[in-house]
Formats: sequence, C-alpha cells, structure tokens
Amino acid sequence: MSDQQFDVIVIGGGPAGYHAAIRAAQLGLKTACIDAWAGKDGKQALGGTCLNVGCIPSKALLDSSKQFYNIAHNLPVHGISVDNAKVDLGTFIGRKDKIVKQFTGGVAQLFKANKITSFFGKGKLLKGNQVEITGNDGAKQTISATNVILASGSVPIELPFAKFDGKHIIDNAGALDINEVPKRLGVIGAGVIGLELGSVWRRLGAEVTVLEALPDFLGAADADIAKVALKEFKKLGLDIKLGAKLAKAEVKKNEVHLTYTDSDGEHSLVVDKLLVAVGRRAYTDGLLSEDCGVKLDERGRIAVDDHCHTGVDGVWAVGDAVRGPMLAHKGFEEGIAVAEWIAGKSGHVAYDTIPWVIYTEPEIAWAGKTEKQLKDEGVPYKVGTFPFAAIGRAVAMNEAVGMVKMIAHAETDRILGVHMVGPGVSELIAECVVAMEFKGSAEDMARIMHAHPTLSEAVHEAALSVDKRAIHKGN
Ligand code: FAD
Ligand code: NAD
Repeated sequence: MSDQQFDVIVIGGGPAGYHAAIRAAQLGLKTACIDAWAGKDGKQALGGTCLNVGCIPSKALLDSSKQFYNIAHNLPVHGISVDNAKVDLGTFIGRKDKIVKQFTGGVAQLFKANKITSFFGKGKLLKGNQVEITGNDGAKQTISATNVILASGSVPIELPFAKFDGKHIIDNAGALDINEVPKRLGVIGAGVIGLELGSVWRRLGAEVTVLEALPDFLGAADADIAKVALKEFKKLGLDIKLGAKLAKAEVKKNEVHLTYTDSDGEHSLVVDKLLVAVGRRAYTDGLLSEDCGVKLDERGRIAVDDHCHTGVDGVWAVGDAVRGPMLAHKGFEEGIAVAEWIAGKSGHVAYDTIPWVIYTEPEIAWAGKTEKQLKDEGVPYKVGTFPFAAIGRAVAMNEAVGMVKMIAHAETDRILGVHMVGPGVSELIAECVVAMEFKGSAEDMARIMHAHPTLSEAVHEAALSVDKRAIHKGN
C-alpha cells in the first residue's frame, strides 16, 4: 500500500530530473522528486552530477585556473607584470564548493517555491507505478503516481585494471578536489573531461600526460577544428599521446606506475595521480524492480522511444540514463518535454541541433553535422571559414586563435553545421543554433548585422565566406 499518491514522481534530481519536476509542478501536477545525492556536509544536495561534480564545479576551477595562468602568459603582453603569483588551493577549491552549495541550495529553493515534495533517499520503481524510497537511515516507504519519470543519470566508467581508489586513481569528482597540485598528473582519455580537468591542473603547473586510445584526436568534432585545438593544447603543455592504450596501473609508494601500448610497442609512465576519464555509463543500480517492466538497451541504458517513453504505461526516462549525448542541456529539454507530454501539451526536443561545448582554452563548440558526416551521407555542401586572427576584438583581447567554420547545403544554402574553436565560442554557438532551428541559410546569417567590434563578426564573416565573399580575408 502506498503512503502518498502523486500525479508525477521523478527519480533523480539532476538536470533532467529537476527540470521535469519543476515543469510538471508549473503545469499544476502534484509532483514529488526523490534524490539520493549527499553533499560534503552529508545533507541532500540536489542538482546531480552537473551541479555537484560536473558542469558547474569544473567551470569554477577552469575559470580560477585561467586567471592564474593569464598572470604569467597573457598579462605581460598588456604590459602588466605580477611577481610571485601563488595559488592558495584551499581558497581555490573552497570557492568552487561555495558555488556548488549556492546552486544545489537554489534547486531546493525552487522545489519549495513550486510545492514539489522532495524525498532524500534511493528510489526504486515497483510494478504498477509504485516507488519504494529507502532513506539514508534505511527506513522504507512507498509512494505512487500516475506517471513516473526516471532520471537516474550516469556514473564514470571504471577500468578493471585501473580501479578508482579516490586518492591516487581518481574520477571527475576526485579531480575537482585535489588538495595539492600534483607534480605529474596522468589522464586516461582525451575526451571532454580529460581535456577540461587536465587543463585546470596543467595551468596550475602540473606536468600532464594524456593517453588516448583512439588514433584521432576529438573524433566527434570537425577534423579542422580538432587539428587547431590539438596544436593549442600542445602549446599549453598537455602531452597528448594518441593511439595509446592503458594496459595496467599500479599504485606503488605514493606513485602510479602505468603501462601502455601504442604502435611502437609497450611503454611505462610514472605519475603522482591518475585521472581516468574514459566515458560514463547510465546509472540504474537498484532503480528497477525485476517485475516493473522497464527494459535496458544493449548499452545498459533505459530503453525509450522518441518521446522518452519506456513502453510501460506512465513510465518515462530522461537525461544521461537514456540514449543520446550525455549533456545537461539535452537532459533539461527532455525533462521539460516529458512533463509537457504528461500534461497533454506538445513537448519538443531538438535533437538535431544540440550544441556541444568544450570549455578549454581555446574553447571548442559545434552544432549540426561535421564535414565527414556529410561526406559519408553523400550530402552536397559548401564551406565558409573565418579565422579569429582577422577579428579586431580577438586581437585586442590577445586571444586571436582559432576559427569559425560554417557548412551549408550546396543547393539550398541551409546551414547544416557550424564548428568553432577560439575565444568565447561557447556563447557564439547559440546564435548558430537559433539560425539552424529556424532553418536559416548562410545567406540569412550573412545579411544579419553583427556589432563591431565583437567576436560574433567571425560567425558573420564565415557565413559570407560560404559564398566566397568574406570581407576581411582573401576568398
Ligand atoms: P545526473 O546529473 O547524473 O543526476 C542523476 C541524479 O539522480 C543524481 O543526483 C543521483 O544521485 C540520482 N539518482 C540516481 N539513481 C537514483 C535513485 N535510484 N534514487 C534516487 N536518486 C537517484 N554537461 C554539459 O552540458 N555541460 C558541461 O559543461 C558539462 N560538464 C561536465 C563536467 C564533468 C566533470 C562531468 C562529469 C559531466 C559534465 N557534463 C556537462 C555532463 C552533465 O553533468 C550530465 O549530462 C548531466 O548531469 C546529466 O543529468 P541527469 O539529470 O541525467 O543525471
Ligand atoms: P568522453 O567520451 O568525452 O571521452 C572519453 C575518451 O576516452 C574517448 O576519447 C575515448 O576514446 C577514450 N578512451 C576510452 N577508453 C580508453 C582507454 N582504455 N585508454 C585510453 N583512452 C580511452 O568521456 P569523458 O571525458 O569521460 O566524459 C563523459 C561525458 O561527460 C562526455 O561524453 C560528455 O557527454 C560529458 N561531459 C560534457 C562536458 C561538456 O559539455 N563540456 C564536460 C565534461 C563531461
């Protein structure tokens, strides 16, 4: 027998879950959200991976480390010198922790304001849309709802030969909480986490070696963009070894001894800490009772259709726990859409224009198709590019690195993809996503006035360049 009846129960209070809960409550549905995440103080900390050990804390450390790095590497160009700059790691990490607390507390406030009933504990879906909650003290209660939204997120993949110990071999959470700059940091995986968190510790002075199993760097990005980015990361001092597969990691006397192989054979490497960032897997441990009817797909993710429905009446799933990119904003949109579908409205998720951003220096951002994807699909296309080196604002900022590349359909001129590496591109990609959502053409973008002098002129010029009429470069 259930103790309480709701219209909607959300299991998981990360980006996907808390968006679903807030939107459901806004639509007048009696909503509960169950989340098990405990913060450093042992109290409930809503916001999941993103707010606790993901998007927000990583950006806090990226920004702090960038400020420090700029003192020695950017300010002298401006005629400013600072002697003996030091980082106080207590303050560095403490600032990040404060930001995390501010935002996790903010979600709790939003839940209160929207009259969402919040449960702190582990939720398990039972047959018939009942949910069993096990509190931290072990106490159990059962609640039920017409609709249940599963938003249990993801956890780091652990390599069997380099198991996390939280001290020497660490995951993303560990890499956000190091209390002394490691002299030598090893990173397994030149993916998003490896590059972002590797950059943080490199900027503070660590010698960072990144081992990437694949022969190509950033295979998901457009090849031209990845090429520029690799060159810049090398300048930063990230030692990125491609085609390098980790075979063994052993902790000996406060050091991690690595064995890896590449096309030249077997090599060894000794580091003080090892960050393993080889991807994440959907987290469904203890989430589903055997008879609840929800199925997992071949990669252990909750199987859903195009509308995030599991096939079990009234049971939906969103965010990292289901197919698609593991990005907070993809989860936001799925959470909102499912709440709207439940309320009988027309929800929508724009899967074709999901923006990707890597918050390194330079930043990397893209939306839509790469040149390779279009080639493979046999779609005729034309390309326009523009370098930040010819953008006055970028030069004035001493950040004139990288470029914007716009790809449009060869016949219709519709924008099919935009790929960028350079200053502020995490923000510049938004206007391209809007243009693509409105089925805009390169010509549309070329006719839109962009303020001078701004970084956005690179997007404008790339659009002009699609038709070989960029003003500030040869075409
Ligand atoms: P999660 O955020 O993982 O939340 C799931 C929640 O459900 C957790 O709180 C978990 O405790 C809870 N839960 C799980 N099972 C149960 C259960 N049975 N009962 C109760 N509670 C349960 N994405 C971006 O878009 N931009 C970025 O800049 C970015 N940076 C990142 C940096 C790092 C270091 C990492 C690791 C990830 C980053 N991501 C970023 C990815 C982003 O964090 C995830 O895509 C996003 O958090 C997924 O949201 P979610 O709600 O699906 O899952
Ligand atoms: P990732 O998929 O981005 O990169 C993992 C990398 O590890 C890949 O390049 C892969 O080839 C490599 N790899 C896998 N096994 C290996 C092995 N045995 N040895 C060496 N290399 C190996 O995964 P991640 O960096 O762990 O991040 C997980 C997810 O979190 C991302 O896919 C992304 O969705 C999300 N995230 C997003 C952001 C952002 O949006 N800025 C930031 C951080 C994380």
